[in-house]
Amino acid sequence: MTNMDNNSIIGAPSQDELYQLFAPPTEVKPEEALSVGKELEKSLLNKYNNLFDVYSTAELQSAFTFAEDYKSFLDHAKTEREAVYTSIKLLNNLGFSDIRSKEQLLPGDKVYRSIHNKGLMAAVIGEDKAKAGFNILGAHVDSPRFDLKPNPIYEEAEMVFLKTHYYGGVKKYQWTAVPLALHGFAVRADGTSVKIAIGDDENDPVFMLTDLLIHLSKDQMTKTAAEVVTGEELNLLIGGRPVPHKDVSERFKVGFLMILKEKYGLSERDIVSAEIQVVPSDKARDLGFDRSFIAAYGHDDRVCAYPALRAVAAQEKSKRTVMLMLTDKEEVGSQGNTGAQSQEYETFMAEVYAKTEGGYDELGFLMALENSAMLSTDVVNGYDPNFASTMDIRNNSMMGHGVCLQKYTGSRGKSGASDANAEFLAKVVHLLDEYKIPWQTGELGKVDQGGGGTISQYAANRGIEVLDCGVPVLNMHAPQEIVHKLDLYATHQAYRCFIENM
Ligand code: MN
Ligand code: MN
Repeated sequence: MTNMDNNSIIGAPSQDELYQLFAPPTEVKPEEALSVGKELEKSLLNKYNNLFDVYSTAELQSAFTFAEDYKSFLDHAKTEREAVYTSIKLLNNLGFSDIRSKEQLLPGDKVYRSIHNKGLMAAVIGEDKAKAGFNILGAHVDSPRFDLKPNPIYEEAEMVFLKTHYYGGVKKYQWTAVPLALHGFAVRADGTSVKIAIGDDENDPVFMLTDLLIHLSKDQMTKTAAEVVTGEELNLLIGGRPVPHKDVSERFKVGFLMILKEKYGLSERDIVSAEIQVVPSDKARDLGFDRSFIAAYGHDDRVCAYPALRAVAAQEKSKRTVMLMLTDKEEVGSQGNTGAQSQEYETFMAEVYAKTEGGYDELGFLMALENSAMLSTDVVNGYDPNFASTMDIRNNSMMGHGVCLQKYTGSRGKSGASDANAEFLAKVVHLLDEYKIPWQTGELGKVDQGGGGTISQYAANRGIEVLDCGVPVLNMHAPQEIVHKLDLYATHQAYRCFIENM
C-alpha cells in the first residue's frame, strides 16, 4: 500500500513493483479472470452516466415537475429587472423581508436587498457566527439581447423603425426574421414609471429585425458571418400607419408617438432615459418527442439563477448563513453598480455580518469572506456532436449527465481564468458523492478555440473559495437556447446540498 499521509511526495513505481502490479491472472480460471477484469474497470475508471439511467422514477417525476416551475419563471423573467422582480415576489411569499427593515438578525431570519432593481442579494441567517463565513450561490440574470439606442425612433420608406445596439456576445444574423418582443422600463416626465412587455401574449403584435431576401443576396452570401448583417442594419420594424393630418412632417413616426403617448404616457424625450430591450417573443417550450429538453430564450443564466433561488428560498434553518447573489451586466463584464464587481453586493454581506455580530469590524468581516464558500452558478457549453471539431469530447460536459463542475474558465493559456483550488474542488466533489448527487466536469471547448468567463473571479479576488458550477447549454447566446431537464434538476440538488452542508 502506498503511503497516503498528507503531504507525502510519491515517486515512480520500481521495476519490481510494476512486475507485480501487471502480473497476468494465470492462477485463476478464465471466467474468474473476466470478473476480476470487470472489477478493475469498475474500481479504477471514472465514468459519468446519463441521468435517465441513474434517477429513480420518483426522481424523474420531481425533475419534470421542477422543469415546469422553471419554465413559468422564465416566462416572467425575460430581462434582469423582471428576473429580480419575480424573485423578490417569490421571496416575499416565503417570509423574506428587506434587510434595511431589520435592526438585528437572528438564526432563521430571511432577508434580501434589491440592487437597483437589476441585481439581488438574499440570505437566510445560520446558527454559526457570521465570522465563520457564508455559503453562497451566485448567478447572473442578464442575457444577450438588443437594447434601444437613446434616440431610436425614425421613419423611412413609410415604415417606423427603432435603432438598436446589441448587448453581450451575439451572432447578429440569428436575430433577424424572427418574432421579437419589447420589454422595458421607462420614467415619465412627471416622475412616475411604467413597465412595458409586448410581444409574448398570442394576441400581442410582435416586432422584427428584417433580413435581405435570398433573391438579392448574391453579395451578402459571400460575406463572413460576422458581417452578413451589421449592427447598424439591425433596425426593428414597429409600425407603418401615418396620422391622418397631411401637414405633419414625419407622419408615420408621429403615428407611433401618438400611440406611445396615449397608451404609455411616454414622449420621445422620455425614451432617452428608458431601458427597453428587444428579446425573442414566445414562451419556454418543451423540446423533443420525449420532452427531455427545454428550448427558451435566456437559459444563460436563469437556468442556474432559478435553481439557486429555489435552493436558498427553501432554507428554514441552517448551520452557516446561506446567501443568494443574482447579478446584472455579466454578459458585458460585470462592471457598473449592478454588476458583480459592484461594491453593493459585498455591502449586503457586511450588513448581514454587522447585524448578526452586533456591530461591524473590518478584519472580522474580511475573515468571514475568507471563510466563505461559493458556487459561481453559470452555464457551461453542452457537447454538440454537430460541432464536434470545436470541443474536446473527453473534457466537455454532456447533455443529461448532470451539473457540470468547471475547475477553471478563461481563454487561450487560461487567461482571465478563475481557477478553483484543488482542496476546495475536492471538498465539493466529496460532498456531492456523499449525497449521491450526479455531477460531471468539463471545460469550455477545445484549447485556443475561444473561451469565456463568469462572475467567479470577482468573488475569488475577495478571498472567497469559488467553483464554477452549472447547467450545460446548447445554442448558447442564440435567441433560443437548449437545456436538458435532468441537468436542471441535478443542478438544483447540487446547489441545495452545497449550501446546506458545506
Ligand atoms: Mn452566463
Ligand atoms: Mn453568457
